[in-house]
Amino acid sequence: MAYPLLHHSILPAEVMDLRSKKVLVVGLARTGLATVKFLKKKGAIVSASESKLEAEMKEAASELGEMSISLEWGGHTVSHFLNQDLIILSPGVDPTLEPIQKALDRGIQVISETELACRFINVPIIAITGTNGKTTTTLLIGEMLKEEGKKAGVGGNVGEPLILFAERGDQWEILVVEVSSFQLEGIESFRPQCSVLLNITEDHLDRYSTYEDYIEAKIKIFKNQRVEDVAILNQDDPIVMRYEKRVRAKKFFFSLKEKGGEGAFSNGKEIFLKLNGFEETYSLSQSPLKGIHNVENMMAAIIAARLFGISKEAIKRVLNRFRGLEHRLEFVREIEGVSYYNDSKGTNVGSVAKSLQSFQEPIILIAGGKDKNTDLHPLTKLIQGCVRRLILIGEAKERMARELGSLTDTVMAETLEEAVLLAHRTAKRGEIVLLSPACSSFDMFRDYKERGTVFKEAVSRL
Ligand code: ADP
Repeated sequence: MAYPLLHHSILPAEVMDLRSKKVLVVGLARTGLATVKFLKKKGAIVSASESKLEAEMKEAASELGEMSISLEWGGHTVSHFLNQDLIILSPGVDPTLEPIQKALDRGIQVISETELACRFINVPIIAITGTNGKTTTTLLIGEMLKEEGKKAGVGGNVGEPLILFAERGDQWEILVVEVSSFQLEGIESFRPQCSVLLNITEDHLDRYSTYEDYIEAKIKIFKNQRVEDVAILNQDDPIVMRYEKRVRAKKFFFSLKEKGGEGAFSNGKEIFLKLNGFEETYSLSQSPLKGIHNVENMMAAIIAARLFGISKEAIKRVLNRFRGLEHRLEFVREIEGVSYYNDSKGTNVGSVAKSLQSFQEPIILIAGGKDKNTDLHPLTKLIQGCVRRLILIGEAKERMARELGSLTDTVMAETLEEAVLLAHRTAKRGEIVLLSPACSSFDMFRDYKERGTVFKEAVSRL
């Protein structure tokens, strides 16, 4: 196959001279902290601004305390922002914040950490985005590259922030990078040699004013790609296909519906690949990954890996051992013929829909959490068809009950533990109890991981 993109020449990054530049880092979680350290090493005059109080961020505070930089805790002031040459936003920082807008009006450059990092990276990047499946697909591609012995760095929105890879650039031959819409919002020249767009469904409408703004952020992954680059797209996703014309790179599609041209197709049992006119088949009979959405992730990963010259044998070995990740449709336990699954990372309607479609058995669904104001109607048919009982928790439970409650037997619970008990009492042999909340977790938990752990502990006590 004449496609090993790894040896493609890539243009040297347009390096920024940061010496003696006044640079402000906004947001001091893990990525912000790593960005501050990077900028210091590059000789910038660094300052930082964080909306949380110093007492809430002890680790960052103690590390930064030793660095003698100007720090602002508990909010962002306009004057601090206007006194900069460059502003770097950590993922999740809302660019519509007043001090950021004022800085932009003043002509101050504002970019994301992803953009800063890519200016210092000179190896090919495979970038993965989408509403769901980013982490799974990123790790799958990373495994495939490593299986072939490639020095692949895997990170971004998962694991280590991209800026750490910029610092240790010479260790890697290639980077596999998960990118969120927030990280893409603040790019200017970020150019992956290979981009993957898995799907787009409504999410984060608590942060974006419209769905269209969220889509535009995702589509930015293609912005700087050239004709010699490649893009891997989900042919079955109507939103992805609506924006397909905006992709300049060579396109490869994956589909569960239609065997098309160059790319991948699956009937759920096998994956058929066609690249450069050559056809190959990958059996899924040994794959431990559950769920039809994971077949999509595997198709995208196989196309990417093959385009970068990874052998079919290495790919097969990874497919046969990759078990998936904690909190993503994770099997917990079977009790008296009832199987319990933890899908705490199912934080939006699109991922819940896929999880519901992954079972033939009747489902008792535990959902709810912090409301993201997204449209719940895409779940209507699935709830009618396969959810025997809906148990709602968290801040969003009233709205969810109003909009979905009439579709099936619906009850509310005060805590996740109570929801698990309610599910256990009504579940019949052969049924599934599934936690897949369609909401974020911050109303009741530190994050989705804590929510999943609480669920698993409650199930283990049954
Ligand atoms: P992300 O990093 O985009 O959040 P994850 O791999 O962590 O994606 O999975 C998040 C949630 O989405 C889980 O509930 C998982 O089961 C579901 N999911 C994974 N892949 C897909 C996909 N291709 N389409 C829809 N849902 C998916």
